[in-house]
Amino acid sequence: MGSGLESFVKIPTIKFTKLFINGEFVDSISGKTLETIDPRTGEVIARVAVGDKEDVDLAVKAARHAFDSGPWPRYSGSARARIMMKFADLIDQNVEELAALDTLDGGKLFSMGKAADIPRAASILRYYAGAADKIHGEVLKMSREFHAYTLREPIGVVGHIIPWNIPSGSFSMKVSPTLAAGCTMVVKPAEQTPLSALYYAHLAKLAGIPDGVINVVTGFGPTAGAAISSHMDIDAVSFTGSTEVGRKVMQAAATSNLKVVSLELGGKSPLIIFDDADIDIAAELALRGILHNKGEVCVASSRVYVQEGIYDELVKKLVAKTKAWVVGDPFDPKVQQGPQVDKKQFEKILSYIEHGKREGATLLTGGKPLGGKGYYIAPTIFTDFKEEMLIAKDEIFGPVMALAKFKTIDEAIERANKTRYGLAAGIMTKDLNVANTVSRSIRAGTIWINCYFAFDNDCPVVGYKTSGFGSDLGLEALYKYLKVKSVVTPLYNTPW
Ligand code: ADP
Repeated sequence: MGSGLESFVKIPTIKFTKLFINGEFVDSISGKTLETIDPRTGEVIARVAVGDKEDVDLAVKAARHAFDSGPWPRYSGSARARIMMKFADLIDQNVEELAALDTLDGGKLFSMGKAADIPRAASILRYYAGAADKIHGEVLKMSREFHAYTLREPIGVVGHIIPWNIPSGSFSMKVSPTLAAGCTMVVKPAEQTPLSALYYAHLAKLAGIPDGVINVVTGFGPTAGAAISSHMDIDAVSFTGSTEVGRKVMQAAATSNLKVVSLELGGKSPLIIFDDADIDIAAELALRGILHNKGEVCVASSRVYVQEGIYDELVKKLVAKTKAWVVGDPFDPKVQQGPQVDKKQFEKILSYIEHGKREGATLLTGGKPLGGKGYYIAPTIFTDFKEEMLIAKDEIFGPVMALAKFKTIDEAIERANKTRYGLAAGIMTKDLNVANTVSRSIRAGTIWINCYFAFDNDCPVVGYKTSGFGSDLGLEALYKYLKVKSVVTPLYNTPW
């Protein structure tokens, strides 16, 4: 690549660019390909097969066959777990290459991928492997003389439509519980970041996951994605992405076969910092809450509310920290923020910044692109925003914070809830009563008190309002891929 970064990382050659259907890498039926772009330069990394409806049909056929007649749903839970553990080990053994693929494709920090994202993908697999042999129903208490119990059965063929911001995490969060449940699946990675998903498919095969259990169809949303959500032979679709596309997925599910839908959608999450918070920690959390992964995080703390007593001091610290934040090549270990994922996203963020200026918010710092090439944007803070402004209403999905001052706890709650989203919220206070009151008053699926981004495998991520429904992570996500069946039999041979 000639960037002088070869001492930090070996940039991999791209090995997998075709669709993965029934255990084989194959060209798309049309033979068409798309260019996947390196956001550091705008240059082409590789050409990847473009799957369309006919390719999704083939993938669903393979998944259906693997579900109806293949071994995967019929293995014991512990047999599935053993293979999943092996899959996880293979991920760990290929951590550098996988991290490099996500950096090349998505501009994510290589150091973070290597230390967090990829090991996390393996750890999610292990978490669900641990649950695979603990799937069972209940014995029910009947009011008459019947014996009844529930079975939890795999739901069938699952369609996963995943986004580009955390390609490895999303892949693992979707695929792992589906595997544990004994389902088969068709995965459509985002067109911006298809490379790691294909690599995971290769590792799944090496681990011994039978053909047809995991199929990966790369391609575009309105074609390959829509073919999944409207497919008559897919039993459930799990989608992570924008609220706008989530609506389309749900509509397509409703007008096709009423497949089960789960949606993890947009967010505009508030972080509320009270006067008694530790200012240094609060400034750091606020900064990381929005700048982590260059703001391309659905739970980013994009609205920060600071109580008036510490507002001025906190703003001073926040601006100083923001100015010291290092933006640059994501392969460089000193860098804290890489480029936005693509040109479209880059332009969208810049246009929101212009809106912010026009709408009368005050630009404290940033507000412009950085560097001559690539999709870099300076970390940006607006203050004096109102919830009616676009920069406070819409999910920008970039390094743009909206900051405001508040007086009372009621005002903070009211403003924090003034959003159509409800994914997450952060609260910083030493006062337990305040923390309890606010956490119960905010309509959001995850509340972090004196922390942010404290994800864990056992912690479900669920949306309120237009942030969607149905969780990722936790045992809740496993249940999305299981159906409950009630079985009833008379106790004493009297069937009435
Ligand atoms: P963003 O707007 O942030 O790019 P999207 O919600 O458009 O996020 O994309 C998330 C995923 O949804 C991607 O895999 C994309 O290809 C897919 N997608 C986009 N449009 C559709 C659609 N109409 N039907 C199904 N999937 C879609």
